[in-house]
Amino acid sequence: MGLGSAILHLSYKFRLLLLFILCMMVVAWATSSYLVDTVQETPKAKSVVMNFGKATVKSTMSHCPALSPYLQGLSKLKFKASLTLEEVRKENPQVAKGRHRPAECSALQRVAILIPHRNREKHLLYLLEHLHPFLQRQQLDYGIYVIHQAGNTKFNRAKLLNVGYLEALKEENWDCFIFHDVDLVPENDFNMYMCDKQPKHLVVGRNNTGYRLRYQGYFGGVTALTRDQFSKVNGFSNNYWGWGAEDDDLRIR
Ligand code: BGC
Repeated sequence: MGLGSAILHLSYKFRLLLLFILCMMVVAWATSSYLVDTVQETPKAKSVVMNFGKATVKSTMSHCPALSPYLQGLSKLKFKASLTLEEVRKENPQVAKGRHRPAECSALQRVAILIPHRNREKHLLYLLEHLHPFLQRQQLDYGIYVIHQAGNTKFNRAKLLNVGYLEALKEENWDCFIFHDVDLVPENDFNMYMCDKQPKHLVVGRNNTGYRLRYQGYFGGVTALTRDQFSKVNGFSNNYWGWGAEDDDLRIR
């Protein structure tokens, strides 16, 4: 072996070594960047998988039908003088914090029922006792809010309803609001507690008026407005203290 060939041989070995080191560096770099990416990507991937799971759960629940199969039509209302809140609770074990939604389908609307109240305990019990099963037969995702006026100053139904609207929206983005007198109870569950393209009046007839409209343009008792309809007219006026006229004002709005 001559000197020249030894140099050649060495440089060949050296070149091999260099190549080997280079390969190792590439492998090391590739592995490390893969790990970094994996670490960074794992939460994203996790959330994609989880959200996909959620989306699937939501979309597998089909919408409730336009007409609930549980509707019964006209019913004879009975009011038991001795009714207690405990009994109303027991009769509605599936209601939690005034809320309920159908288990079998996704409700067409989320509906908040707002009831202004003061010193009408019995009326309130009768209404709650009838409303819960009524709204469940209509397959609504609903919540009932009782807005109580403290003190002895004149009652302000409109202001209580404005308060109820704002407070209820803090809890849920309700689609539809039913503004409900405490002393009216629906008799027929085909009277749907849902909102429409226009504000809706739900007391077109009642027993003490011979089931006739009180007067042309009457818009009191129970009305249904979407979240946007109510916001568009800036709610009720706060200035009607004492009985009457706030509902006429809302109609004009
Ligand atoms: C009042 C309304 C009320 C209606 C009831 C009207 O005179 O302005 O607020 O709902 O009477 O009959």
